[in-house]
Amino acid sequence: MTSKNVIDLLDSSVMPTYSRFPVAFESGKGATLKDFDGKEYIDFASGIGVNSIGYANETWVNAVSEQAGKLAHVSNLYYTEPCAKLAKELKDRTGMSQVFFSNSGAESNEGIIKLARKYSYDKYGEGRYNIVTLINSFHGRTVTTLKATGQERFHNYFFPFTEGFTYAIAGDIESVKEAAGNNTCAIIMELVQGEGGVMPLTPDFVNAVLKFCTDNDILLLIDEVQTGVGRTGSLFAFQQYELLPDAVSFAKGIGGGLPLGGFMVNEKCKNVLGPGTHATTFGGNPICCAGALAVLDTLDNDFLKEVVSKGEYLRKGLAAVESKYITDVRGLGMMIGIEINGTSHSELVKKMLAEGLACLTAGSNVIRLLPPLTISYEEIDKGLAIFKKVMEEA
Ligand SMILES: *Cc1c(COP(=O)(O)O)cnc(C)c1O
Repeated sequence: MTSKNVIDLLDSSVMPTYSRFPVAFESGKGATLKDFDGKEYIDFASGIGVNSIGYANETWVNAVSEQAGKLAHVSNLYYTEPCAKLAKELKDRTGMSQVFFSNSGAESNEGIIKLARKYSYDKYGEGRYNIVTLINSFHGRTVTTLKATGQERFHNYFFPFTEGFTYAIAGDIESVKEAAGNNTCAIIMELVQGEGGVMPLTPDFVNAVLKFCTDNDILLLIDEVQTGVGRTGSLFAFQQYELLPDAVSFAKGIGGGLPLGGFMVNEKCKNVLGPGTHATTFGGNPICCAGALAVLDTLDNDFLKEVVSKGEYLRKGLAAVESKYITDVRGLGMMIGIEINGTSHSELVKKMLAEGLACLTAGSNVIRLLPPLTISYEEIDKGLAIFKKVMEEA
């Protein structure tokens, strides 16, 4: 098949919910992708932060194929080894107390929303159900997580949305207190807002939210679907902010390319979700968990230090690109945002792809980079050269 064959075939049968770039990828190795016509691309996108250890990573491929040949799925009616090992590993490396596995980011956030409401219901009874979320946040595409997303443009068409969400300004603790009123059970936030434009929260604001939560027995829910699994230079971003959340959701990078998500809770929220209160058929799937164990094995402390160094290297390279359109370069670890003013950020991303570099957009004017954490310096340099060329020709 040629790229065009694949594109025509897919467009003839798949719902047009995505505005796809006209490229069909056939394979990848490391942080380099190849399309059906043999053209190569440097990948600064990793399938939206999913391919955390790159394409065709040998350790990962072996772990996944071995598990596929042994046992693919039996459901949570029974015990399986990869799920057990993965949960223990996540606990040991974060200080959290229990884990639930799901299949996507939105589903993981649904889980922590249910957790917060049940925690409050058990302790205070009905009525204390509200959840404060931040403006510009993104928490998913289900009817509930759309409402939890603090962007008006997502609150459309699918009425009625789930009740019980109020919105506060990121960085403004008074706004959080006001949005909380007297019926709030939890506050949910991303430590670096991803889809909203790669906006890190300040430690001062996060500490003020934590204190407000602790003082009022409001749960602090951290959405690490994008920031988790080494992306920001620590296994989870909350570890850099030096706090232990009540619950943390994760997904994207954990499975190394397989659909896996979940959430962890601290000691206070242990056993809030008991038998029959929450479930999902595929949760903790053995193949996905085997892939995730290979990801976590790869992400040891030395590797995470390297993520910080590569992130700094990449940001320095970007800052050196001379362009009147670049008004800011920001981010944490290998989660990077380049703010564009005076021209279309999405047109630039299209040109970069045509030149052989895959990038992402975020917010209304940001080019977002989430390269595989295993990307080599040589691949970074190649990508930077394309980025520079497109910016200089713009
Ligand atoms: C991507 C994302 C989600 C949604 O994840 P899905 O797997 O697409 O459901 C939720 N929260 C954040 C912060 C995300 O980046």
